[in-house]
Amino acid sequence: MSTGGPTTLVQLVSSPHSGSTILGVILGSADEVVYGGEMDRIPDPVWHSGLQCSCGQPTAQCPFWSEVRRRFEPAHSVPAFEAGQRRFEPWSALGRTVAARTLGSPAFRQHAEETAAFVQAVAASAGRSVVIDSSKLVGRSLVYAAARSPSLRVRYLHLVRDGRSVLSSRRARRDRVGAPVTSPRFATRMARRWVVANLAYSTLLARQRPDYLRLRHEDLLRDPEGTLRLLERFLGVSLAAPLRKLCDGSVFPVVHVPTGNRFRLTGEVRFRRPEGTAPDPANAGERRAFWRVAGPLARWYGYQ
Ligand SMILES: [Zn+2]
Repeated sequence: MSTGGPTTLVQLVSSPHSGSTILGVILGSADEVVYGGEMDRIPDPVWHSGLQCSCGQPTAQCPFWSEVRRRFEPAHSVPAFEAGQRRFEPWSALGRTVAARTLGSPAFRQHAEETAAFVQAVAASAGRSVVIDSSKLVGRSLVYAAARSPSLRVRYLHLVRDGRSVLSSRRARRDRVGAPVTSPRFATRMARRWVVANLAYSTLLARQRPDYLRLRHEDLLRDPEGTLRLLERFLGVSLAAPLRKLCDGSVFPVVHVPTGNRFRLTGEVRFRRPEGTAPDPANAGERRAFWRVAGPLARWYGYQ
């Protein structure tokens, strides 16, 4: 349980389908950590609609998120908080957000303070000192940077996954459900998004070192224990509980995660090591299309 010291907010950033939900769930099983999913989707739609929380309740009725509301709402305006999110957090608003931060805009400052209060409400409701948010928006990262205070530390964990593996897993999923297969054109579009997101994290957030760490999804799969030990040092929190679960192969509970990968709805997940399958030859055209766009950055991240 939290000792009343400072709260640490960890934003787990990644391009889509990079494994951030599973990493959030693994870290969220530590005694001092709460994983809130993609928290940019709170309040809207999580507090307003019938999305399903991983606890099985509609998110608007989930006991945990209702407790967060009880702590946040008396002193803060939800509509103003949502307006700040719409104004400063979307990718399309990034230029405005950078300018607001540089010029010290009062509205930006106010939104950063509201965001800090929201994070503290999550930490207090969970009784944990570390809050993990897997929002992918770099605008939100800049808001968090401005929300830093003696009572709120901010860390950025940048998770990178080889885009060719993302394409393979999407193709496998589409084959399973009988949906149309992906195409080189889709791969090119996805590669552009992959480059834009990762480049934004690598330029705007990497300058926050030592509060920034880049991690490859493939390294987590290959050496989960070593990776968790590295994260233990980076986050300054004991990860003994998830390390134990990895060693004995037990399941990780998915507790009150309102958004993110749909596997969360099963309520638990088991970490599986990769089986070392060869690249799918049917996927070769998509892989080439991805590499044409994203090759230089992917090589920089150590992919061949
Ligand atoms: Zn819940």
